[in-house]
Amino acid sequence: MAIKKGTTSHSNIRGAGNMTHILHYNTHAERRYFTGKNREMYDLVGLNGNIVSFSPTGTAAFLASISKPFYIDPQTHAFQHDTIHLKTKGSRKNQELHFKPSIVKLANDRLGEPFSNVINNDIPLSPDVFYNSNGTLNSSLITRICRNVISFQSKFLIDSIDDETRDFLDNPNDLLPHFYIAPYFFLSSILWEKWLAINIAAYRISKDLYRDKPVYLELVLSQAILPNIQDICDQIVRDIADVDGILLWIDGNAEEELTRLEVANYIHLLHCLRRKTNTIINIHGGYLSSLLCHNDLKNNLSGIGHSANYGEHREVVPVGGGIPRARFYLQKAHSRLHFSDAADIVINKNWHTSKDLYQNNVCSCIKCDELIKQYGTPEAAFNAYGDSNVTVVPFKGSILRFEYPTPEAKEAGIMHYLYNKKYEIDSLNNHSLIELLSKMESDYQEISSVKGSEFADYLEIWRLELLQALDS
Ligand SMILES: [Zn+2]
Repeated sequence: MAIKKGTTSHSNIRGAGNMTHILHYNTHAERRYFTGKNREMYDLVGLNGNIVSFSPTGTAAFLASISKPFYIDPQTHAFQHDTIHLKTKGSRKNQELHFKPSIVKLANDRLGEPFSNVINNDIPLSPDVFYNSNGTLNSSLITRICRNVISFQSKFLIDSIDDETRDFLDNPNDLLPHFYIAPYFFLSSILWEKWLAINIAAYRISKDLYRDKPVYLELVLSQAILPNIQDICDQIVRDIADVDGILLWIDGNAEEELTRLEVANYIHLLHCLRRKTNTIINIHGGYLSSLLCHNDLKNNLSGIGHSANYGEHREVVPVGGGIPRARFYLQKAHSRLHFSDAADIVINKNWHTSKDLYQNNVCSCIKCDELIKQYGTPEAAFNAYGDSNVTVVPFKGSILRFEYPTPEAKEAGIMHYLYNKKYEIDSLNNHSLIELLSKMESDYQEISSVKGSEFADYLEIWRLELLQALDS
């Protein structure tokens, strides 16, 4: 395996504005978004346990070549949901569902029992597995899963490479995660108390066992239990002495769709959790979460994460993919809009008619500049983001028409999105929160004047709740 020597240490995961910007590495095909000049666009790489388990040498080569801090999410929650989410269809000939090979490897070879039982028996984990018959927690079982789950994160990559490859590494620590994640489970609306007690025990035991790195608590929760957040926080505060850091993931938390009450609950959650730790990172967050990282807020977030290839929220269990449509991250909307919506706004405002108007109102990123040079006008450059191929399919006596973005349009949209996220995060450092909120208010007015107020109501909801947070 060819490994290129890295150049930086793992000492710091805080970048612009003293916050941590995570980019999730989901497949090896995404490698190009992390390398070369793109290396400067994020601070920390988020890896899933199944990619690490399935292709350790490819992952090790990738990590050694970028030499950036990373963490490995052990995905222990994946085993508590309906097992259909861990399965995939076979070849065209064999359409039967079977467990994904990456998940089988993770469970059987790395995490062990009771995770492997899920694969062998095809039954999801119940919290009762972790309790004795008298209702107390089974500490020896929880200790065993802590050892398996954390030694997977600490040793597996290093153990997977050969001696020759090891010699090429500047520093074998390049293959050690920046922090460990204790085993964790999803807090669903009904059984959250039982699962939380297991998570807390797993955190305490992991922290006792492993002192060489910080240990993070991953808190993955259903939107439906946010109103119970005070109880959850009280339990954490009561039962854990000290938390090195928290990774937060609220199921399907599309920030553009939150009501005012839901935003208020989310901010209240941060307020409660900050009593236990200085480091809380929302691993699937949008612009609301970026603003919540602002240093002007007392109980702020410490970072956000997103992927290159899709939006900023993520469901705990995968939902149907739907039909891919061309999207464009419109900075004034702070959202990845359908291209046709972005085009309505840009064209109505005439922002496509000159380079100055385009750069001042739409985007001045490297990708947009490249496209303007390539196509000659900002209008043609902007249209390139919406290029689609049309497919027609007969359906129940009529014709359905689908538009799929071309590979070039998709690629351009991803790079433009990554540049915009980086710009938004850098701007936290260069402006007060009040300045950013007043800019957002005028952006809201401009967008509403074309699409109606409901289209961009979320900007006002975020602004009003952030103003309140600033006062508290
Ligand atoms: Zn751009």
